[in-house]
Amino acid sequence: MSTTLLRLGLWTLILVLALYVVHEAYAEETWVEMIPMQALQQALVLSVLVIVAGIVARIFDRGASMVVKNRCRVCKTPIPKGALYCRAHLRSILSHEDEKTHMTRVRK
Ligand SMILES: [Zn+2]
Repeated sequence: MSTTLLRLGLWTLILVLALYVVHEAYAEETWVEMIPMQALQQALVLSVLVIVAGIVARIFDRGASMVVKNRCRVCKTPIPKGALYCRAHLRSILSHEDEKTHMTRVRK
């Protein structure tokens, strides 16, 4: 969301600046009058607003991602960062793995 806003704002800004440069460079040409300066100014203000909104959205995104807790993949209990399962499920999965290795050892 924030990335889309930032990209949109930056592209609008680039477009507006490019049109402005063209307008200034070919000021004597008659076709330059086709570029409406008033609309260009409004577009400039709009693009700046979109970029500011994108930056604000990015800050909010970062804040939200920090608030989100890591959860157990089985029961969704909050767990420490970097862990995949809660204590109970980790234990049951480990014992399950233990059984598997035990089974193969027995078969040998
Ligand atoms: Zn669990």
